[in-house]
Amino acid sequence: MEYREIGKTGKRGSIIGLGCEHLDGKPFEQVKETIDAALEHDINLLDVFMPGNEVRENIAKALGPRRSEVMIQGHIGSTDLRKQYDICRDLPIAKQYFENLLHHFGYIDFGMMFFVDSEEDYQGVFETGFADYVQKLKQQGDIRHIGFSSHNPLMAERVIKTGLPEMMMFSINLAFDLYPVETYTLDQLHQGLDKNAFCGFDPTRAALYTLCEKMGIGITVMKTLGGGKLISPEHTPFDKPLSVAQCMQYALSRPAVASVMVGCQSRAEVLDTVRYLELSEEERDYTHIMSTLRNDFKGNCVYCGHCQPCPAGIDIAVVNKYLDIARLDTEHISPAIRSHYSGLSHNGSDCIGCGNCEKRCPFDVPVIQNMAEAARIFQ
Ligand code: SF4
Ligand code: SF4
Repeated sequence: MEYREIGKTGKRGSIIGLGCEHLDGKPFEQVKETIDAALEHDINLLDVFMPGNEVRENIAKALGPRRSEVMIQGHIGSTDLRKQYDICRDLPIAKQYFENLLHHFGYIDFGMMFFVDSEEDYQGVFETGFADYVQKLKQQGDIRHIGFSSHNPLMAERVIKTGLPEMMMFSINLAFDLYPVETYTLDQLHQGLDKNAFCGFDPTRAALYTLCEKMGIGITVMKTLGGGKLISPEHTPFDKPLSVAQCMQYALSRPAVASVMVGCQSRAEVLDTVRYLELSEEERDYTHIMSTLRNDFKGNCVYCGHCQPCPAGIDIAVVNKYLDIARLDTEHISPAIRSHYSGLSHNGSDCIGCGNCEKRCPFDVPVIQNMAEAARIFQ
């Protein structure tokens, strides 16, 4: 397994996490075999947003004394009063559901303010005492870090700028990133993903990911497979379905992403997911899909790594990533980004201008120019 830091929380999460949603309603034996398989493969991050007592109890029982070997994303405001998944900002009810989660797991590593997508959600969290409750949970040690989940890049940016969260769970996949920011991707998911609505990489989403990197907000990813639609021959919006590994690679190559949470409900599904770690770069590569789209990606780095190897030893995608973050505000580059850049064994100033990378880049990124710009900006 590979691990990455989850932003400024300082915690290291497995790049593949287990989304436990599909364990809801399953018998204990099935829950246990899935959790066992995840732990055997060193997955240390579990998302438990489900409000039901039975599934929580089954997961906790399956973990047993191994509870401390994993980190749990537990969601505050996730309820099922009407016998279906629901969002609740009514504090007494939200507390009751969260206390149930604490009862099963003892403490929660990442206390997630659940589903902040709309203005109403924002007000429900920040203007009702809900956020105060979350802070109190952290002060008491019931949660170790504050996070939130969202599918809306504008709202996510607003929440991050409150300074409260340390990490976020966000929906990221190639299709969602191609929709204009005003499109609510969850609606699209329910209606069917429409390729004709794609408009090239949405700059607001890209800016969100770079903002997260800049502010030390680690991202864990949901909807990595677009609810299964991206990998379905019938429902994919692309000319052919992506593989699970290609979807994971796409999400993992966005700035600030620490982990992709993949929903599994059996040992076989866990094994299938962790197979990603054994695949070659070619098998994970998703860029050929983009060349089948009518949009023009020319000139923008998508951090795919196609341009490697570099004879000067530069990790070109990483330098481009830090450069994109720095470009957000060249006058105020965060010390963290400067430090990441200067910590690279080779950087823009090592470029010898051989041009090998530019010949390999499918998106005509002016790499030599970018390396020179990085060298100048970070000097
Ligand atoms: S420069 Fe081109 S090939 Fe290299 S990571 Fe960026 S988009 Fe991919
Ligand atoms: S042009 Fe620069 S960055 Fe590109 S492969 Fe050559 S040395 Fe590396």
